[in-house]
Amino acid sequence: PFDVLVVGGGPAGAAAAVYAARKGIRTGLVAERFGGQVLDTMAIENFISVPHTEGPAFATALEQHVKEYPVEVMNLQKAEKLAKNGDFFELSLESGATLKSRTVILSTGARWRQMGVPGEDAYRNKGVAYCPHCDGPLFKGKRTAVIGGGNSGVEAAIDLAGIVAHVTLIEFDTKLRADDVLQRKLRSLPNVTVLLNAKTTEVLGDDSKVTGLAYEDRQTGEQHTLPLEGIFVQIGLLPNTEWLKGTVELSPRGEIVTGAHGDTSLEGVFAAGDCTTVPYKQIVIAVGEGAKASLGAFDHLIRISAP
Ligand code: FAD
Repeated sequence: PFDVLVVGGGPAGAAAAVYAARKGIRTGLVAERFGGQVLDTMAIENFISVPHTEGPAFATALEQHVKEYPVEVMNLQKAEKLAKNGDFFELSLESGATLKSRTVILSTGARWRQMGVPGEDAYRNKGVAYCPHCDGPLFKGKRTAVIGGGNSGVEAAIDLAGIVAHVTLIEFDTKLRADDVLQRKLRSLPNVTVLLNAKTTEVLGDDSKVTGLAYEDRQTGEQHTLPLEGIFVQIGLLPNTEWLKGTVELSPRGEIVTGAHGDTSLEGVFAAGDCTTVPYKQIVIAVGEGAKASLGAFDHLIRISAP
């Protein structure tokens, strides 16, 4: 059995595995896709000490760092159940295998909810973006839209308004759902337009990049197009925790509820990164949280093995 079994091979899981292995304890890592969300990222310019890198290169660097240590990496394996059995946790994989470990670190990350309209996939990273903290500066002086009028959409629009030329916020419903204070701030900005009751129908482009967005006015049924260079989709971040329902405490949004040491409601199970309640989903944060959960697991192991 493992001392520490990490589930997830993104920045959080890689950091957790390196920290565990450096303690000289038996460490395993299971990942559906080693690298995680960074595999889908182009430029990364906010990982402190690395002024510029690209997602796939960053993922390779994560893997190389993990491979410096004797971590048993099981890539392309999906976990589907976690259960406690005596002194051990049992992790069942989709392949039918079961892994045993004294502690488990959950770092299964999250995925952005997509609009599901034509052009969204084709222009991903070519104008279609999901993270204003990450990609906002790439649109300096350009025209952008934000899709979604909840807190994250309105925050994104306020954030972008300070960088880009113009922001159009598009909300499907007849009103914004964001907190009042955010809505007041939004409406005070001169370079923001809010469109309510509007349904995005297509991302338009010239084959290499986004050139506009088509939407339908839901009241009149009329189609309109907006010429622009960037579209930030802010309609939800979904944690990859469906398989953990009933095993560890999840927030109403499905995030694993974690304490200050990365601990979860199940003693011996820790969690880190985008799959948890930690605010602000970023690589630098996921890496720090992974290290913290790993040290939390190590502290727990010292205590349960005391004579
Ligand atoms: P993830 O990276 O999501 O990794 C999760 C891991 O768990 C993966 O290996 C996955 O395959 C695995 N997994 C999931 N479910 C299971 C399962 N059931 N069994 C086994 N394995 C499983 N952040 C920045 O700081 N800067 C940026 O510039 C930036 N740009 C971004 C651009 C895009 C397009 C996207 C999508 C995100 C971007 N982010 C950026 C956010 C950043 O990628 C995430 O915050 C970070 O990757 C979170 O790390 P994580 O390890 O928690 O999760």
